[in-house]
Amino acid sequence: MKLVDPIIAFQAEIQQIRRDLHAHPELCYEEQRTSDIVAAQLTAWGIPVIRGLGKTGVVGIIKNGSSSRAIGLRADMDALPMQEINTFAHASRHAGKMHACGHDGHTAMLLGAAKYLAEQRNFDGTVYLVFQPAEEGGAGARRMIDDGLFEQCPMDAIYGMHNWPGAAAGTMSVTAGPMMASSNEFYVTVKGKGAHAAQPHKGIDPVMIAVQIAQSWQTIISRQKSPLDTAVLSITQIHAGSATNVIPDEANLVGTVRTFTQPVLDMIEQRMGEVAQHTAAAFGAEVDFKFRRNYPPLVNHAEQTRFAVEVMKEVVGAENVDDQVEPTMGAEDFAFFLQAKPGCYVFIGNGEGEHRDGGHGLGPCVLHNASYDFNDNLLPIGASFWVKLVEKALAPA
Ligand SMILES: [Zn+2]
Ligand SMILES: [Zn+2]
Repeated sequence: MKLVDPIIAFQAEIQQIRRDLHAHPELCYEEQRTSDIVAAQLTAWGIPVIRGLGKTGVVGIIKNGSSSRAIGLRADMDALPMQEINTFAHASRHAGKMHACGHDGHTAMLLGAAKYLAEQRNFDGTVYLVFQPAEEGGAGARRMIDDGLFEQCPMDAIYGMHNWPGAAAGTMSVTAGPMMASSNEFYVTVKGKGAHAAQPHKGIDPVMIAVQIAQSWQTIISRQKSPLDTAVLSITQIHAGSATNVIPDEANLVGTVRTFTQPVLDMIEQRMGEVAQHTAAAFGAEVDFKFRRNYPPLVNHAEQTRFAVEVMKEVVGAENVDDQVEPTMGAEDFAFFLQAKPGCYVFIGNGEGEHRDGGHGLGPCVLHNASYDFNDNLLPIGASFWVKLVEKALAPA
């Protein structure tokens, strides 16, 4: 492990910020206090900031030398609408809100890097420190882009990092190409005709039609998609009816589709709609088919991934780097940045939870769990990765 020495020296300061953010979680687009703290810290270290991109987003800008090269480093800032059950000193003070995805840690790691970069300035070019809101379902990344992030902050490449529970602290991982899935929702209503349950022939039973649609949809995954492509279609809600002896007018199907590529997603969305329409028509019913695309697949660019792997090896050692990590069907809005700019998104091991202070909940230390806590031992590792990435990408000629 080769950490950057000055970063180790101010670890306590960064940990204090991390724990303060953990104690005061804020949800999508409500990160007012968080962004105030980020902006105040950056300003205190002499770093100019742009505020308001993506409502609560903050971008710090560190320019050095004369090169026109520029890279972006991104941290997300938002928390989740869930109740923390940890009782240690820095546990959430806001009922029903919790930093259960470690975005407090991501923000702190990037602040640690910012402090070092502003002090040492061992690079030639521009670093944009992108603190984004609303990763958890609010598409804060897209909103920052829509608000002009890349016009105001032109950059050659952008990098992101997420803590990864279960992988040992001191390890990092990544893979080129698709690493996280697209996430999409569907809402389907089958419109039949209600009747007495003892006289089904006088109505059009939407329940049986919904069940047929549900069954047929799985054959899109198993029979129409190439077996070499990855996708999942999960129906997570079926709602219909209110009595044992009444055939209802309508039945609803709700769920999610995940894919690693846009063409596979296009095919599944189209076929789901056709199967629903034609199945309903076969029985004289109608269907209302709504399909909503949330986050696109997260696809790492090959050149930037190779570069990130080199830097990881320098920081945590080659034996602690997995450069072909198994992709996950989870989704992440950094995908929007990677659609607009070359770049790479990496995982940093968060350990199994043995780092947690006394008073932690009895659940596992995994993302989106009420017993989770970010591992503060990662602060100097993640910040060192950011710093070395900058110093290598923007090395003085
Ligand atoms: Zn999350
Ligand atoms: Zn997250």
